Amino acid sequence: MKRRVIAFDLDNTLADSKSPLADQMADLLDRLLLRFQVCVISGGTFEQFQKQLLHGLKAAPDTLRALHVMPTCGTRYYRFDIATCSWQLVYAEDLTAAQKTKIVAALNSGADALGYRASRLWGAQIEDRGSQITFSALGQEAPIAEKEAWDPDGGKKRKLRDYVAKLIPDLGVRVGGSTSIDVTKHGIDKAYGIGKLIALLDAAKQDVIFVGDRLSKGGNDYPVKAMGVDCLAVSCWQDTALVIQTMLGVT
Ligand SMILES: [Mg+2]
Repeated sequence: MKRRVIAFDLDNTLADSKSPLADQMADLLDRLLLRFQVCVISGGTFEQFQKQLLHGLKAAPDTLRALHVMPTCGTRYYRFDIATCSWQLVYAEDLTAAQKTKIVAALNSGADALGYRASRLWGAQIEDRGSQITFSALGQEAPIAEKEAWDPDGGKKRKLRDYVAKLIPDLGVRVGGSTSIDVTKHGIDKAYGIGKLIALLDAAKQDVIFVGDRLSKGGNDYPVKAMGVDCLAVSCWQDTALVIQTMLGVT
């Protein structure tokens, strides 16, 4: 089948968690953009995309038109604008001030009740991402090793998710990354963003391949698989580099 759109998760799929692209990956993406529409979708903010992804790419402006940037699970969508040579917000679906207040109160209440107040924090524990509020148990900038050691089996995150979901049943509460819980409007996950992308590109599900590292049930990439898009599971960016090399016919 001829695919038109290759979509990727960001953390642990295109780059190490919260880290910039390796030069090899940047080069492969530049080449992939010449052949396919490419989407990157993640729970992270646009600023995080700039640091990890966009600063590393060297593709020409007209080639960057093929890149579809979807921070916060596609509740924000950016395209490259050739006239201004900059990334422009196409749409944003932000939470209201009242919703944000409720979410922050529920996350604080859950963190207190479950004792998730770390003795040391690396950055803010609660971050307002406009369309999403994220709780990071150790702070946004915690070292990867600390994050991975905090909740290796996912049990702590599930407890907080369940606690918070009961307090704000009208909003969507999900496990995010290794230490984080994301809250959005209901029905916002990567399937939402990929659905938006399919509509924007006037494509069909069968035109898309999604590559992610958390495709098993409960993972933040799983909703894309559940919606019926073909998915490829990877465990690190080096796996993804092999996938892209295969797509480019280079081995
Ligand atoms: Mg990931």
